[in-house]
Amino acid sequence: MTEPILDCLIIGGGPAGLTAAIYLARFHLDILVVDGGKSRAAWIPCTRNHAGFPDGISGEELLQRMRDQARKYGAKIETEFVTKLERDEQTGLFTATWGSGCATARSVLLATGVTNRRPPMDEKLHDDALARGLIRYCPICDGYEVTDKKIGVIGSDSHGVAEAVFLRSYTTDVTLIAPDKAMRLKPEDQEKLKEAGIGCVDGPTQAVAATDKSIVVDTAEGHYAFDSIYPALGSDTHTQLAEMVGASLSKDCGIVVDSHQRASVVGLYAAGDVVIGLDQISHAMGEGGVAATTIRNDLCAKAPRLREKVEQVEEAETGS
Ligand SMILES: Cc1cc2nc3c(=O)[nH]c(=O)nc-3n(C[C@H](O)[C@H](O)[C@H](O)COP(=O)(O)OP(=O)(O)OC[C@H]3O[C@@H](n4cnc5c(N)ncnc54)[C@H](O)[C@@H]3O)c2cc1C
Repeated sequence: MTEPILDCLIIGGGPAGLTAAIYLARFHLDILVVDGGKSRAAWIPCTRNHAGFPDGISGEELLQRMRDQARKYGAKIETEFVTKLERDEQTGLFTATWGSGCATARSVLLATGVTNRRPPMDEKLHDDALARGLIRYCPICDGYEVTDKKIGVIGSDSHGVAEAVFLRSYTTDVTLIAPDKAMRLKPEDQEKLKEAGIGCVDGPTQAVAATDKSIVVDTAEGHYAFDSIYPALGSDTHTQLAEMVGASLSKDCGIVVDSHQRASVVGLYAAGDVVIGLDQISHAMGEGGVAATTIRNDLCAKAPRLREKVEQVEEAETGS
């Protein structure tokens, strides 16, 4: 038996994909979320800048609440990793393939996010230090938590300098540490560090131990202990599926979209960190909501969705 054609296949079940799933399911559309289960939000021990949670919430709990909310309205969610995406030029339909199956859809939302590059260190030590706030990846999110603390930023180019200068507004004690070799910076970056009073340490660098309150980094200049370190080593954007169907990418490797989250291929949409690396849940959710509404309106423009009369509605919910 052939599977029915989905109105929308959402690839990626982080804040962007799950927000879109909630909207699309509530638009009475037939959707499926296929998620590889590696949302960056799941790394967050406790987010304190996400509006509506004055005492913070763990990333995993937030994701679980969103999955529950999407399922409540009929969204199906599968934990799988999509390996292939194709588009039929004649019909405009997409087919996605993963290990145990495939699906055909009139539209696809890519909400596949990015992965932060990790500093060289033992994986268990990394995950333990991350859970305890000794390693942090998002100064916009949690710079507040390192106010007046001793901070190391692992990075060597303009990106590392920008992150160190950003963090300098939270604390006087910021050190920039080169990841793999002696620090080589452009004169203007050296000037920025000097003006901000940020010290530099040469690499190679490796985080080697964590105590209750600090993380120890081995560098070319000896051991340094910090209250937290921020790796500023860049990230890899998950655009492979977009590339398979010929979507345009921006020069910083995100998927190019219009102001309604439409990618350059008809029927393809993108939202969240895979579009712009702002690293914010609220932004990913906002783009997910915009994308879902655009998808609904574009599908209805092609074929109006007129609900048929239902004889008996058991549980009609009204709301504003
Ligand atoms: C340590 C850390 C702390 C952070 N703290 C905060 C914070 O306090 N506040 C805040 O606002 N933001 C924070 N962020 C940023 C926030 O987590 C991200 O901005 C947010 O998760 C982006 O959502 P997204 O849906 O775009 O991508 P993600 O949440 O990364 O989700 C993408 C999903 O797509 C899946 N996927 C990728 N490719 C495929 C494929 N081919 N097939 C199937 N699935 C696929 C992945 O497995 C993943 O589950 C933090 C990030 C980190 C790393």
